[in-house]
Parts: sequence; C-alpha cells; structure tokens
Amino acid sequence: TLLEAPEPGLVISRFGQHVDVEDRHGQIIRCNMRRTISSVVTGDQVSWCRSKQPTGSIDGVIEAVEERRSVLLRPDFYDGLKPVAANIDLMIIVSAILPALSLNIIDRYLVAAEMTGIKPLLVINKADLIDADAQHAIEQQLDVYRNLGYPGLLVSASTGQGMDALLHYIHSGTSIFVGQSGVGKSSLMNNLMPELAAVTQEVSAVSGLGQHTTTVSRLYHLPEGGALIDSPGIREFALWHLSAEEVTAGFVEFRPWLGRCKFRDCKHITDPGCALQHAIAENQISQTRYDSYLKILTSMTQDKPNHF
Ligand code: GDP
Ligand code: ZN
Repeated sequence: TLLEAPEPGLVISRFGQHVDVEDRHGQIIRCNMRRTISSVVTGDQVSWCRSKQPTGSIDGVIEAVEERRSVLLRPDFYDGLKPVAANIDLMIIVSAILPALSLNIIDRYLVAAEMTGIKPLLVINKADLIDADAQHAIEQQLDVYRNLGYPGLLVSASTGQGMDALLHYIHSGTSIFVGQSGVGKSSLMNNLMPELAAVTQEVSAVSGLGQHTTTVSRLYHLPEGGALIDSPGIREFALWHLSAEEVTAGFVEFRPWLGRCKFRDCKHITDPGCALQHAIAENQISQTRYDSYLKILTSMTQDKPNHF
C-alpha cells in the first residue's frame, strides 16, 4: 500500500479539502481526507496515515475523527449549523471598559456559552483607562458573575495587568477568545504569544496571505503550555439567533426556579404565580441579570431576520 500505519494527530487548520495536521512530534503535515469523513475542523483529534511517497504538498490522509468533547457551530446559509472548531475547554469572553462596558452583551455571550457546554471566563480589558475607584466598581460587577460560578478578570493588554492571572486559566487545555470587535482580543492574544504575533505579521506582509488567514480557524500552542484557537468567524457568535427557551436556560441562576411557576407555559414576565418573579423579589436573583434577560428576549424578536 501507499500509506504508513495510522497515527494520532491534531488538526491545526483547514482550507477547503486540505487539512494541516500536527503529528506527535509537533510536525505539520498537509492531509486530505477520506470521503467517508463528514466533518473535520480545527481542534479535532484525528487518526491519519502518512503517505509512503511524500510529495511535499499533500503528504497524508485523515482516516477518522475522534469523538469531540465540545464543538462550536456557526449558522451557514446552505448547511444550517456548521462546526468551525472542536475540543475547546475554555471560552474567554472579552469585553472592554471603553467605548462602554455592556453587561447585557456579556450576558448574551454567557447564554451562548451555556449552549455549547464550554466553560466561560469573563475578561474585561483596558483596565489602564480607569482609576482605582472605577476598577473597584468593575470588580464588584464581576463579583455578581463570580457568585454565579463564572470566573472574571479585569486586565489590560497594554500594561500587562492581570495577564498572569489570565495565563493561569489558559496554560492547560484549549481556549478561544470571543467578543465584539475592538475590545482587544488580538492585543491579548499577541500579548500571550509575542513570537507568534511577529511571525504572523511577517508572513502576511510577504505572502499577502493576511486576508486569507483571517478567515480560517487556527490552533496555536502557547509557550507556557495550553493552546488557543483563533476563529474569526465565531468571535461574535453570541449575536446569532437563539430561541426564547435557550435564552431562559442560559441564565444558570434561573434553573432551580423554572419548574416551580404556577403555569407550565409561564413566560416569566407578568404571569401570575411566576417563581422567577418571586425569586427576584426575595433577592435570590439579581434584578440586573433579569433585566438583561428581558432585553435579550426583546432584541431577539426585533433582529431575527438578520441572523442568517
Ligand atoms: P479586537 O478587535 O477585539 O481584536 O481588538 P484589538 O486587539 O484590535 O484592539 C482594538 C483597539 O483597542 C486597538 O486600538 C488596541 O490598541 C486597543 N487596545 C487593546 N487592548 C487595550 C488595552 O488594554 N488598553 C488600551 N488603552 N487599549 C487597548
Ligand atoms: Zn415564571
């Protein structure tokens, strides 16, 4: 036969039918895939075979994809939901002090994170732009989330504040940065892997591949251990469509109350005998999180047509 025995590999990135697989020595081999394989994405663990006569272009074949611990899906006009990255352990939800810190956007991302089952970490960037008192106020807002079981960090990609704490979360497992444009995701990633930032810039400048590489999901190993997946297409995924039920289920602190409303189809808004409303009155659920919940529900019905 023309192929060596199968070996395990990690998918670093995929361009159409071509997949870059990392072998156990950290070497990258460009592979194509068996027709029987339905989906291969960045972060997948695969079984692949090296070609006995490598040509330097396609040097292996992916035989099988291992079961995924998690997967990020993206709505696709033709295919419905399409996987874009797999086996992510931590979703780093980045927001920034400026232009304005939106707790509502954070809540949207948390709902989306809950849907994936990937653990979220809240990161609020650009701490350098505010004084100690204002930073203290942000820490108190983060405490609301910490009490719900969501860790949170106030950081600055510019001064390096909080970066050690951030490293602590990402030096094992695979993480992905998500958040709106301009919050500092690229700055944080470059801060975590400076050598790589320099290389990517050079490559883009020399080959003109910059534009191409920004649309492809890619896995990077960090010098201190752990990996990052950069997936431009998924960064703002919290703004895609969710059903009302998914939004309700995405608020973790609502869960213990949901079965206890008087009416089974309770909308938890003005319905009599609503257990959620009771919990808010008793300070068991934060009013700001509930307001945020209502805002998300309302915005969904308004911007539904734009989501695909
Ligand atoms: P992305 O769109 O989320 O990747 O954001 P970028 O990393 O491109 O950053 C957007 C802008 O915010 C750039 O002008 C950065 O220089 C700036 N920026 C990023 N991090 C910080 C920070 O910690 N402090 C300040 N003051 N500006 C920052
Ligand atoms: Zn209710």
